[in-house]
Amino acid sequence: MGENIGFIGLGIMGAPMAANLMRAGHALGVYNRSPGKAAPLLAAGATAAPSPAALAGASDTIVLMLTGPAAIDAVLAGEGGLLAADLAGRCIINMGTVPPAYAVELGKRLAGHGVTLIDAPVSGSKAPAEAGTLLVLAGGEPAAIDAAEPVLLAMGKAVVRCGRIGTGSAMKMAVNLLLATMMTGLAEAVNLGEKSGLDTGLLLDTMLAGPLGCGLFAMKRDMLVNHAYPVQFPLRHMAKDLGFITQAAQDAGAPLPLGQTVAGLYAHGPEDLDFAAVKRVYEAMS
Ligand code: NAP
Repeated sequence: MGENIGFIGLGIMGAPMAANLMRAGHALGVYNRSPGKAAPLLAAGATAAPSPAALAGASDTIVLMLTGPAAIDAVLAGEGGLLAADLAGRCIINMGTVPPAYAVELGKRLAGHGVTLIDAPVSGSKAPAEAGTLLVLAGGEPAAIDAAEPVLLAMGKAVVRCGRIGTGSAMKMAVNLLLATMMTGLAEAVNLGEKSGLDTGLLLDTMLAGPLGCGLFAMKRDMLVNHAYPVQFPLRHMAKDLGFITQAAQDAGAPLPLGQTVAGLYAHGPEDLDFAAVKRVYEAMS
């Protein structure tokens, strides 16, 4: 039998992840700051809660899929926030992207309320969220992750056990640093080719046919060829994540010369388009 799950944050990622929890047989309660986004889930049988605190009362496990620390703090301690409810014995799974140091602090804060935190950001974008094939990067007590695994696997294809709380987020920082630098490298190389008179499709297909071909470049091919960037992972979120990555690198004592340059480019990109639109920054500079 499924669990009672409370889901907070029905954005690009959260809405399809919540739908997959229902498909797996869990009873779902939902809360979203903008209530209209819950409509398709309510039509499919989910229950709406008027506040995070109200949601907590009916949930064994609470999943957060929010923008970042400020949104989590608002959902915890704002009016009708989670911390206004008796949370003892609950498990909260944070699946949004946060700096590792924030995840560690969140774990301590929630432990004071008798809550077990699983630090479980995801690798994968809108399409894997819809297909239930996200890679879950989990940090936390092994027994808590074991207990939550059926819930996590309703949203993802695998759970990577990274270590204690904070390590899931540390893994996410490393993954997204590589994602941002690979995308920027592709944009810079394609822009050079275009400026040299080459056809964009020929450029991309040549890159994909050789040893550089990879899932990311294949996924972004049509965006670059069509010069259209329908949002999968918004550029503003990548810019946000690069801020978290910079903070994490400072905390860890890791140099970030490439990451800092890349962060400067994303800071000037069209924030509501997909992050592949970092290519537009090169076009503006050309
Ligand atoms: P999104 O579409 O922008 O959704 C963000 C969610 O956070 C919305 O439900 C929003 O509520 C809520 N929120 C923001 N500020 C809030 C506040 N102050 N109080 C209460 N709720 C607040 O973002 P997303 O793409 O789903 O991403 C969610 C998280 O997953 C982010 O950390 C992102 O970096 C990460 N992520 C995204 C992708 C991707 O490809 N999109 C992939 C992997 C990880 P409203 O609806 O009211 O605005």
